[in-house]
Amino acid sequence: MHSRWSDDEAQEYCRRYQAVGDAIALRVYTSHLLGRDPELVLHGGGNTSVKTVAADLLGRSVDVLCVKGSGSDLAQVEPAGLPAVRLLPLRELRALPELGDAAMVDALRSALMSSRSPNPSVEALLHAFLPHAYVDHTHAHAILALTDQPDPERHVRAALGDAVLVLPWIMPGFPLAKAVALAFEQQPQVRGIVLAKHGLFTFGSTARESYERTIELVDRAETYLRHQLGGRPAMLVGEPAPLSAAERHLFVQQALPVVRGALAVAAETPFGQAWQRVVAVARLGDLVASFSAHPAARELCHSNPITPDHVIRTKGPYLFLPRSVAVDGDACRREVHAYVAAYENYYHRCARQRSKHMLRPQPNVVVLEGVGVVAFASSRKAARIAADLAEPTLRVKAEAHALGRYTPLTDDELAEMEYWPLELDKLGAQVEPLLAGQVALVTGAAGAIGAGVVEALLAAGACVFASDLDGPRLAVVAERFAPAAKGQLAVGAHDITDPAAVAAMFGACAATFGGVDIVVPNAGIAHVSRLERMDDARFAKVLAVNTTGTMHVLREAAHLLQKQRTGGTIVVQASKNAFAPGAGFGAYSASKAAALQLARIAALEFAEFGVRVNVVNADAVFGDDQVPSQLWQTVGPDRMAARGLDAAGLRDFYRKRSLLQVPVLPRHVGEAVVFFASQRTPTTGAVLPVDGGLPEAFPR
Ligand SMILES: [Zn+2]
Repeated sequence: MHSRWSDDEAQEYCRRYQAVGDAIALRVYTSHLLGRDPELVLHGGGNTSVKTVAADLLGRSVDVLCVKGSGSDLAQVEPAGLPAVRLLPLRELRALPELGDAAMVDALRSALMSSRSPNPSVEALLHAFLPHAYVDHTHAHAILALTDQPDPERHVRAALGDAVLVLPWIMPGFPLAKAVALAFEQQPQVRGIVLAKHGLFTFGSTARESYERTIELVDRAETYLRHQLGGRPAMLVGEPAPLSAAERHLFVQQALPVVRGALAVAAETPFGQAWQRVVAVARLGDLVASFSAHPAARELCHSNPITPDHVIRTKGPYLFLPRSVAVDGDACRREVHAYVAAYENYYHRCARQRSKHMLRPQPNVVVLEGVGVVAFASSRKAARIAADLAEPTLRVKAEAHALGRYTPLTDDELAEMEYWPLELDKLGAQVEPLLAGQVALVTGAAGAIGAGVVEALLAAGACVFASDLDGPRLAVVAERFAPAAKGQLAVGAHDITDPAAVAAMFGACAATFGGVDIVVPNAGIAHVSRLERMDDARFAKVLAVNTTGTMHVLREAAHLLQKQRTGGTIVVQASKNAFAPGAGFGAYSASKAAALQLARIAALEFAEFGVRVNVVNADAVFGDDQVPSQLWQTVGPDRMAARGLDAAGLRDFYRKRSLLQVPVLPRHVGEAVVFFASQRTPTTGAVLPVDGGLPEAFPR
């Protein structure tokens, strides 16, 4: 590990943050340097501070501590994320024999210079009690590998000599702040303090000094580790060999729906029993695959995390599944039940006195033997964070295992962190969206209606796998929704007339999100021709997409949904033409009527495994310039010519044709899909028109 300090960059930060002064500007700079190195901190871990001077309302100078706000991320922190707290009232607290969490937060908040600031870090007192201008705290992996041991001090001493103090695990907050200050005062020559099984503190009179002490100490720890291990530990170099990369990708397509189904929980809601599901993020790199193939993997997975900071994201133990179990629904459920029973036991032993409310007892991280690691959560973002933490965790556990004996926090120590209200506050208020944890697959997603369905499903909190034959048009849709999608949108180009491509589409969806719950066969094409002039090949093509393609998607959906055993929703896009056909539109009307009939058959057949199948009949959905309706691009010119209208006139004609006389938007169709996907009514085999009201197309 090398220092990334650059005088030019430092000056650039001082220019950029001129308004707050150099002391804070450089604090922001080295916070970014620390935060952007995943070997030092991940996802909001760690904290930093600077002691400086601020002016109060009367213009008097006040000593303040600018310390990272709770819940912000060092990699992106801005000056506003380093709230200023009056230093003196904080330091006075040290005289207290003890201080409860609520009182500590009150004291921190009442010392803030601005009432609009976020809560200062739970480690703010530790920063305040140390005398240095700059204090840096990280959860450096190399330090954790050395200290997650039966004797945490031994390897630290060998690696870092007398440069640091080593403290045993102490719960963060007031007790840790006092212990660190006292230890430092007894040995003020040290450059840093190692907190066993937690991380590292360094300090200095300048931003650069404190930062470079972190780098120097971590570099020495890394060098020591390399030297002791003689390179990568056996667990990480593929002995015994994991599956090949290609085999891993195929395996997760098969296994993730099974595992995800086993992790879903049937919950009582005001609308009856509903599945609470989770979405997956899989990491299948060589390193984690090698780890997971090793005989020691199971035991290390089941052990507590490398630093308690991870517990609210990943839980303590990860669930280890042999490959034969991960593809067997019954065996997989038995393993999940065993994990849940162990978690409940842990909660009752160690956490119940702290909290009356047990957190979700299902595992957040699953390690698949010889394949890799998969994180699960109700949102893609939370799953990605857990995966980001789990991946290096496995490496550090392997290193600690090779160095001596991996020895993390005890269950009691971990429970104190997992159920610490100040730690849980970092997750923020959690209001789950309607379709949280659900995965939707939409075909024909590059068309106007498809895009409207994608938009509505994303807005309802679902993960969406958007497929279309037309890659470039799909890219337009992906670009439009990417900012709002928060990583919950994936796209793939597939031809639904090809059964192998449809199987690959569901496989890709399963590999990306873990499975599927909501399937929207929506792809369709149109052809304008009277019967007397109908071209056989064109007719067959329309049937191949609109009818046979729908059948392919229904068939493959049935396979995947049955594997999960958690029911599901299918919403077929038919058309107003299924009930009210149009002259010159035989291929489309007949193929959509057949698709509608297939949906009704699916409703009959799939009910036995809890899948509801309904139909949306839309009409006159034109889309916009960026994502226009392909149907209307095909049909429009003919209709305009027949009626002597321009494009705007045609839209107006169709609007006025309906009872409600309102335009039908793609998003309207999407909302109909969301309604069915919410499963708030026990409805299957139904047709919902989204057409502004057309008497001749009333369902019958
Ligand atoms: Zn920490």
